[in-house]
Amino acid sequence: MIETLTPLSEQQRAIQLLARDFATRELAPHAAAWDRASQSDPVIVRKLGELGFLGMLLPENVGGLALDSLSYLLALEEIAAADASTAVLMSVHNSLPTRMILNFGNDAQRDRFLPKMATGELLGAFALSEPDAGSDASAVRTQAVRDGDSWVLDGTKAWVTNGNTADVIVTMVRTDSADARRGSRGISAFILTPDLPGFRVGKKEDKMGLRASPTVQLAFDAMRVPADRMIGEEWQGFVYAMQSLEAGRLGIAAQAVGIARAALEAAIAYTRERHQFGKPLNSFQAVEFRLADMATRLHAARAMLHTTAAAKDRGLNVGAHAAMCKLLASETAMWITTHAIQLFGGYGYVTDYPVERLFRDAKITEIYEGTSEVQRIVIGRAVAAR
Ligand SMILES: Cc1cc2nc3c(=O)[nH]c(=O)nc-3n(C[C@H](O)[C@H](O)[C@H](O)COP(=O)(O)OP(=O)(O)OC[C@H]3O[C@@H](n4cnc5c(N)ncnc54)[C@H](O)[C@@H]3O)c2cc1C
Repeated sequence: MIETLTPLSEQQRAIQLLARDFATRELAPHAAAWDRASQSDPVIVRKLGELGFLGMLLPENVGGLALDSLSYLLALEEIAAADASTAVLMSVHNSLPTRMILNFGNDAQRDRFLPKMATGELLGAFALSEPDAGSDASAVRTQAVRDGDSWVLDGTKAWVTNGNTADVIVTMVRTDSADARRGSRGISAFILTPDLPGFRVGKKEDKMGLRASPTVQLAFDAMRVPADRMIGEEWQGFVYAMQSLEAGRLGIAAQAVGIARAALEAAIAYTRERHQFGKPLNSFQAVEFRLADMATRLHAARAMLHTTAAAKDRGLNVGAHAAMCKLLASETAMWITTHAIQLFGGYGYVTDYPVERLFRDAKITEIYEGTSEVQRIVIGRAVAAR
């Protein structure tokens, strides 16, 4: 096990071991089969809920564990090392819909949704992207028009993780008018439930990796949403979403660290056992150097993540650092999984070993919750102080 050097409190270590035990017993043995079937076992959501892993960052008064960011990220790393698809379910649920309702919702919304989200009775999703609004998320076109006590929503959301299994979907749509567009300041956030008339799950994406995590389109056809489902103030939805994505990016960085660690551990074990030219592979210095570089990059990505999490918990503004964490961890995961396949040779290219799945799973961490280019834009703006 490639352990962190970060000093952990007793509670942080306990959470890490709890997650490791669960991941080893309940996820790792099934991850390859779920990947092949493009489907996880729905019972996993209930089990994550029983452990408290779906309310890790929520306060105790709504049934959460009220943990610090580092505890949450340690747990995510363990889950991702076993199954990256389960990790994204956990990351999206904890970082985005629950946090948006907690931080920006009103008491009635918090009381109605958060206790059940903390236990996994209700699963959350986050629907910001659209077919023509990705990196430029402010270009969303889904429109809400006020009609009495309701808003009527029309449009399509794209790439929604858990969109077909979620019970609570936080979405960002336009509430400005076609005659008076306000850009990112014309977007509002709503809490949707699949029982709303006009809500429809569309195409399920057939993905390269993360195949056990469902990604779907959602169509809103004159969907009538009660006005009390708006989160916070009208026209603040984009600001709320961007603030929530800061925590989301730390979660995706932890997912990437978990994937990278699993690939490195697999490569260490394989190069110990595999013999060529009459010797184990790891006795060749070229192999040892490659393992050394993989371990060094993993340590750098994880150390940056843990330092940033601790700073966030001290109340510091870590927007640009969260982007750095995601950028470094995702590119590290891609680099380490690529080198792991090389160390396995032909056996790395087939499904008998986990590294080809880890390679496919790693790629998405460079794309969602802001591509690597978008992270560089965020970091560049901060360092250039524009
Ligand atoms: C598996 C999966 C799950 C997802 N889950 C969710 C979810 O739950 N909720 C949600 O809302 N969204 C989700 N997404 C959407 C994801 O966040 C977007 O795919 C991502 O933000 C990129 O948007 P895009 O795909 O439209 O690419 P585009 O924005 O079209 O980008 C294409 C390329 O152009 C580059 N580019 C764009 N603008 C610039 C620029 N200014 N400078 C330099 N390069 C630029 C990008 O970096 C990228 O390389 C998910 C996506 C996937 C694939």
